[in-house]
Amino acid sequence: MPADWLITGCSELLTLSGPVPRRGRALGDLGIIRDGAVLVHGDRITAVGPRSRIERLGEARRAEKLDLGGRVVLPGFVDSHTHLVFPECRAGEYEQRISGKTYEQIARAGGGIRSTVKLLRSTSPKALKDRAMYYLREFAAHGTTTLEAKSGYGLDWESELKILRVLHDLHENQPLDIVPTFLGAHAVPPEFDRRPDAYVDLLVKHWIPAVATAGLAEFCDVYCDRGAFTVAQARRILMAGRVCGLVPRVHAEQLAHTGAARLSIEVQAASADHLEKVDRADIRALALSNVMCTLLPGCCFHLGLPHFAPARKLIDQGAIVGLATDFNPGTSPTLSMTMILSLACTQMRMTPAEAVAAATINPAYSLRQHDRIGSVEVGKYADLAAFDVAAYQEIPYYFGVNLCTLTMKRGVVIHSKKY
Ligand SMILES: [Zn+2]
Repeated sequence: MPADWLITGCSELLTLSGPVPRRGRALGDLGIIRDGAVLVHGDRITAVGPRSRIERLGEARRAEKLDLGGRVVLPGFVDSHTHLVFPECRAGEYEQRISGKTYEQIARAGGGIRSTVKLLRSTSPKALKDRAMYYLREFAAHGTTTLEAKSGYGLDWESELKILRVLHDLHENQPLDIVPTFLGAHAVPPEFDRRPDAYVDLLVKHWIPAVATAGLAEFCDVYCDRGAFTVAQARRILMAGRVCGLVPRVHAEQLAHTGAARLSIEVQAASADHLEKVDRADIRALALSNVMCTLLPGCCFHLGLPHFAPARKLIDQGAIVGLATDFNPGTSPTLSMTMILSLACTQMRMTPAEAVAAATINPAYSLRQHDRIGSVEVGKYADLAAFDVAAYQEIPYYFGVNLCTLTMKRGVVIHSKKY
């Protein structure tokens, strides 16, 4: 049972209170309270404000004192795009790519996503869970308190089910909240090489309804891109999900401009992710929609690609912009949201304030959890991350360094770094 806490010593308390979702200029509004304090009862926040006021409350006197000693405190990061469950990293491939091999050459030699799929199918649920648990502890140590996680490395029914059950098991047995997404349409499995429509039929008629009925996912995602699923196939899959109550998310416009961003608007997706190849008309359309544009700069960074998504244009035109790690073994093996913030600032010209909001309140909105998480406000879960810096701009400024000193999830301290 979590204790009641009076948390003080927040030199800057970034509450993120204000409009949800954040668009345009409002994205940079962090609702900062200097010398702030938070009162926590059980798993919820019961008071937020300047220390001088909160300390005087009757409940504050009875609560356990947690003085952070002058740190920047913000809502725990909400990572709305991860591929958490996989059997092994692909560092060998990383070296081959740097040495000049193309993705196609690596895939022909047995590498790429298919190597992960092959291995996952023969890996036990326990081994998958143990590896994911290790990563989750690291997510927590970097300030993340909620994450979305996708299936999609099984691509046969038993293996997709295995991943979704591991995600369910993880959600129940460790502190971070995990929001599951069914991504059976991550790639066309080898068994359906020349018959992708037959695989789409299987997804639409059998797997998606079964996943929804079993309550194993909240969202349904499709990799809609060159070499993956077409817009027409993705539409069938996402609409089948919608009918069963699975909200669409879309891997869109990463490798080629296909029309996937427009599709995400048409099917009222919660999020369109990647978006490196969007055009001006797409940006205008996304800005007028409620689809969050989830940008994944870790992917371009890891692959050494020069063209990051047009964050500045999306924000300036009023789109809902979010950031996520895209944690996966092939293209973005990072679980550090602060590293993503650093990339967002230097490579996509987002301000540090915009990057913080794009990693907290907006992804909470895209996961349909903004009434519970994403800001430090009365009634929300006490999900907090404290950083050993004097001002929030230093969080992305110190790139590749983990300065998260304390993470609290639902009122429980789940990570604490002692000096
Ligand atoms: Zn992805």
